[in-house]
Amino acid sequence: MKAHDGMYIDGAWRPAAGPGVIEVVNPADEQVIATVPAGTVEDIDVAVRAARAALPGWAATPPAERAARLAALRDVLVARQDEIAETVTAELGSPPKLSQTVHAGVPIAVTGSYAELAATYAFEERTGNSTVLHEPVGVVGAITPWNYPLHQIVAKTAPALAAGCTVVVKPAEDTPLVARLFAEAVHEAGIPAGVFNLVTGLGPVAGQALAEHPGVDLVSFTGSTAVGRRIGAIASGMVKKVALELGGKSANVILPGADLARAVNVGVANVMSNSGQTCSAWTRMLVHHDQYDEAVELAAAAAAKYGDRIGPLVSATQRDRVRGYIAKGVAEGARLAAGGPDSPHERGYYVSPTVFADVTPGMTIAQEEIFGPVLSVLRYTDEDDALRIANGTVYGLAGAVWAADETEAVAFARRMETGQVDINGGRFNPLAPFGGYKQSGVGRELGAHGLAEYLQTKSFQF
Ligand code: NAD
Repeated sequence: MKAHDGMYIDGAWRPAAGPGVIEVVNPADEQVIATVPAGTVEDIDVAVRAARAALPGWAATPPAERAARLAALRDVLVARQDEIAETVTAELGSPPKLSQTVHAGVPIAVTGSYAELAATYAFEERTGNSTVLHEPVGVVGAITPWNYPLHQIVAKTAPALAAGCTVVVKPAEDTPLVARLFAEAVHEAGIPAGVFNLVTGLGPVAGQALAEHPGVDLVSFTGSTAVGRRIGAIASGMVKKVALELGGKSANVILPGADLARAVNVGVANVMSNSGQTCSAWTRMLVHHDQYDEAVELAAAAAAKYGDRIGPLVSATQRDRVRGYIAKGVAEGARLAAGGPDSPHERGYYVSPTVFADVTPGMTIAQEEIFGPVLSVLRYTDEDDALRIANGTVYGLAGAVWAADETEAVAFARRMETGQVDINGGRFNPLAPFGGYKQSGVGRELGAHGLAEYLQTKSFQF
């Protein structure tokens, strides 16, 4: 057990204002592995002041120099990749391979992409008789969740720094250790004092103080809809800019001509990866009624294969929440084709990979974000029916379409109310804009679109 001190503020680790601590638990064995300080309103205030003080200097730093610092940051992350992966495995419970490739690998790619974008982005343009400047929005308050703990921090921090903004991050209370490691990396990369600040703490205390602080110009939040609504209300009340990423209930639409086995296997892997704790997971599989029984059988077999390879959920609360949804699915008449509410291990917050068949669109498990290894298989009669079901939730974050050919899949995907669609198994692209239609959120992350979120325009007329 390691008791960590301090918050990374203004380029140094400073003692927290209050005595409170947060325990960090390894969800695989339920042991307390560390404590971090529980930041207060006072810590947030000091951090925001540091970010404000650093803003003019960083905003005026030439983009090429900001790019060089981001490239240095990427190099430090590469050098510390094993440590990052081990830390995420310890506090989130993800299997070591996933921690290496995704939890450490994706943030490296994203930081690298912003090092490049900072160097090449047109921060100034001409239109008619005007010059348009793209200037940093100011001080960013970033509130992040635990599901991809480093990625969520990097997806906000890297574009903010590339834009010339300064940042205060309040990471999730379940996963503060990789956030501390990131602050060390920022320091090693030579990013000037005050440009990046980290305050660990509880959401309703430190998170809320950050959202409400008058010195914050933009609040970028990823997490639950309930908290997102609250943050949106605070931000609009104070006329601050806000970005919200609030999860999803994405559809994996398998059209009749598709390679059924591949579509089902990739779909199951997509849901079970990270123990289902992925906002963009395709948790509803939509299959034509002629192929329905075969698809359910394939999905159940694929889920069973995951059995021991799946990590635990992040916390006891999350496990209980997911089990509650499984019980609700059964109570509302869905049929368990694989898994169920029982834990496959004696210790740790595990839930078995679960597949529900005979799910109808109105059921709770077909409408609400479960955030666990639970797949619902729904049947449709024709393409219009499939589209109605696919679009029939309050969310619209991601999705997939499988068809005999790309043209047919694209034609369907154009009609989907969602921010991202993978066509016939298309791969993750760290440059493509990521974000939601409808209640999945406001704003976009990643790539040039993610950078634009942290910029505001000023035009000169000549
Ligand atoms: P949450 O929304 O409570 O927490 C996310 C972040 O917000 C954390 O840093 C938390 O400390 C902070 N926070 C909490 N209350 C706050 C407040 N009043 N003001 C400011 N910040 C506050 O999410 P959770 O409880 O960790 O997870 C609950 C559910 O949210 C999950 O089951 C899942 O459905 C969803 N979720 C979605 C995502 C996503 O990527 N969209 C990520 C995590 C969780």
